[in-house]
Amino acid sequence: MPSYEYRGQQINISDADTEYKGYFEAAAEHRLVVKKCLDCGLLRGEPGPGCPWCTSLQWEWNQVSGKGTIYSYQIVAHTVVPSFRDWAPFAIVLVELDEQSGQPDQYDGLRITANLVDENMEPEKEENVAIGKRVEVAFLDGEDGFTLPQFRLIDEPPKGTVWQHQV
Ligand SMILES: [Zn+2]
Repeated sequence: MPSYEYRGQQINISDADTEYKGYFEAAAEHRLVVKKCLDCGLLRGEPGPGCPWCTSLQWEWNQVSGKGTIYSYQIVAHTVVPSFRDWAPFAIVLVELDEQSGQPDQYDGLRITANLVDENMEPEKEENVAIGKRVEVAFLDGEDGFTLPQFRLIDEPPKGTVWQHQV
């Protein structure tokens, strides 16, 4: 069973854990994968064995480009997780990937959650985070073979209306 350490926390991924094992194996090869339903063909980013749209339990891993748009975000100012204390404040972003934007309907899409980091893989500054900004996946390589997909801002025009929380 693969076992990793990330920011002082132990992460164990069971060999039988099809939900995450393939995801992190692909990440170690710097590939971002999501689940593809073998019945309706739609992609999904959230964990879970069943297709949220047709309830099928049949799926396979599907590689995606890793480019998308910030759909929503949250700034973590105070974390209860000790290993993230020196990271705060940091952004958690919900990214809508380009492969399936606006499908199966205008309110839904292929979305995954990660942190937003800068070019040094440190948390992106809060003033730079906004809904609508374009991002791409960035792979944060740990020392023991554990790789975590994150997102980074890219120099592309925003998609739709840019929105940012004003403090
Ligand atoms: Zn389906």
